[in-house]
Amino acid sequence: MVKRAGASPAPQASPAPQAKPVRPGEAVELAVWKALRGVHDPEILPLSITDLGIVKDVRASDERVEIDLLPTFVGCPALDVIREDATKAALDAAGDRQVTVRFVFSPPWTSDRITPEGREALRSYGLTPPGEGGHRSTFIPLVTLERPEGGVTCPFCGSEDTVLESAFGPTLCRTTHFCRACRNPFEGFKPKLAG
Ligand SMILES: [Zn+2]
Repeated sequence: MVKRAGASPAPQASPAPQAKPVRPGEAVELAVWKALRGVHDPEILPLSITDLGIVKDVRASDERVEIDLLPTFVGCPALDVIREDATKAALDAAGDRQVTVRFVFSPPWTSDRITPEGREALRSYGLTPPGEGGHRSTFIPLVTLERPEGGVTCPFCGSEDTVLESAFGPTLCRTTHFCRACRNPFEGFKPKLAG
């Protein structure tokens, strides 16, 4: 579907003198970013993919829009859904441009990329944001023989008197914990560190 000439409205003259020259495509890129804010992690609905920090780059030219996403946990089944949803959302903002969404692996996504809004969304969903409760960062080796205690804050009562039940929660990116203070089980979003 390449249909360019005359299809989009003529670019409007800027209403006010611009301090900096606007790159061609920049307005489209901003519109796409905005649209991507409405795409949510299918496994954690309050969390948008921009707040999760997986949108690395949006580039727009006259013909196409390219979106680079950083996968969180490779093999996460949500990735296909996210790709589809991001494509759909971007199509609206892209006008006649062709939209390509691809996963890139550099730089690797780390949980540091989650925005403060994203951490709030995790908490509202009952998931403890990674790296919180902080004296030690909870590195979780692939095989956990002992059950590390404490160090993760309960999203319900705020206590740190918690125990890691399983490094493998219901999805790849989650861990399961138990709070000894309020006796609630809860899940954590697995920290992922660089290096
Ligand atoms: Zn608790």
